[in-house]
Amino acid sequence: MRGMKITKRNPLPEERLWRGQCATCGSQAEAMQREMTNITHDQRHGSFSWEACPVCRAGEVNAWTSSGMCFYPHER
Ligand SMILES: [Zn+2]
Repeated sequence: MRGMKITKRNPLPEERLWRGQCATCGSQAEAMQREMTNITHDQRHGSFSWEACPVCRAGEVNAWTSSGMCFYPHER
């Protein structure tokens, strides 16, 4: 539809902001959902994703274990 004006744009799922904290060095980060490589769901924690920490490199070798940065979707 030409001329349509978006008056409120919601983020697409892949654009949702996630926030993470490194379990090893405590560094914190934000990234979009599309950057998450290990998204997991469980009943207790909901969605989360362990990612390698770019600061101390924790989780770089075995990111599927609970090491590195644990990201959660940021609630707004
Ligand atoms: Zn770290």
